[in-house]
Amino acid sequence: MNKEIERVNDLNFVLYIVFTTGQCNLRCDYCGGSFDPGVVPWGVKYPLEALVSLISEDPDPVVAFYGGEPLLNARFIREVMDSVEARFVIQTNGLLVRQLEPEYWRRFDAVLLSIDGRKEVNDRHRGKGVHDAVLAAAGWLREVGYKGDLIARMTVTEDTDVYEDVRYLLNLGLFDHVHWQLDAVWSDRWRDFEGWARGSYEPGITALADLWLREMEGGRILGIVPFLGVLRVDLTGVPNESPPCGAGRSAVAISTDGRILACPIAVYSEWAVMGDVREGIGEGPRIGEPCVSCPYFRYCGGRCLFAYFERYWGEMGFELLCELTKHLIDEVRSRLPRILELIELGIVRREALIYPKFNNTTEIIP
Ligand code: SF4
Ligand code: SF4
Repeated sequence: MNKEIERVNDLNFVLYIVFTTGQCNLRCDYCGGSFDPGVVPWGVKYPLEALVSLISEDPDPVVAFYGGEPLLNARFIREVMDSVEARFVIQTNGLLVRQLEPEYWRRFDAVLLSIDGRKEVNDRHRGKGVHDAVLAAAGWLREVGYKGDLIARMTVTEDTDVYEDVRYLLNLGLFDHVHWQLDAVWSDRWRDFEGWARGSYEPGITALADLWLREMEGGRILGIVPFLGVLRVDLTGVPNESPPCGAGRSAVAISTDGRILACPIAVYSEWAVMGDVREGIGEGPRIGEPCVSCPYFRYCGGRCLFAYFERYWGEMGFELLCELTKHLIDEVRSRLPRILELIELGIVRREALIYPKFNNTTEIIP
């Protein structure tokens, strides 16, 4: 099998999302907690050398630890970090941050902590006390000298007010960036997705874009990842990948059983299997029509490979999500002329607006 996976992002990084376990210490209602150990084993079942050999062939790898809750297997994280040269990223719920020693934390480039926003919104879905525990974890990471990118990773549900919750997280002063994913397509818990989308989400995105620009007028760049990820296309002239998370192209996930998957969510999907860590990486699935002919494709990249293939919500659901994506892209792009003026005037630096600098697992399009 071909071990070289396609390098299509502007900076040529390849992201290896490494599952350390299928087990989780929480049972958030979006995903229900741990994976079935028969599908994603709760321990790593392939030899470390296989992973090291795969990653070591790469001149500039990014390794992101993932689970379940990756810190439930901190030993494996240490082993990998002691064996490969890479940029390191982790997606964690933060409850077990002390399982890993500060000297390891200081070597991370990006830490994504799962938090949905205000306490009542977060704890309704993730469990009582979780919000406070995440903030304590963020504070502790800074205390022990973690200087990398600290990213709040939100799951957006019907309870989310995107304006209020993103603003809340930014105002905490703990996080460098805030990113969100819609709990859409794989979830059937929405009461009225369309009503929420038009009555809350779309106006919330507009208000957030207004706030983003207002702050920029004063020289402050709010780290709102979906906005920055769309803006990056116009600032660099390089289209976003398809899909923008890189799934199956510049990003692969390695499950604890050794399977190489295009997307870390797609553990049950045959279409996502691209190989095995012991054998190498083969061809990945690709996004096709209607996305490749869509005028928003440069920015959206087809949004999400998993949603594209699974279509749990059918065509209508797909199209509704497209509307939300287009709305977000339009809100960013309509502010582009003023942003370019602010760069010209020296109020904000172009370089500081280009984010992410490498694929740090923030998927750009919510
Ligand atoms: S907006 Fe919809 S159709 Fe267009 S690229 Fe994105 S997902 Fe595909
Ligand atoms: S955005 Fe979609 S395809 Fe990409 S990693 Fe997330 S679920 Fe997978």
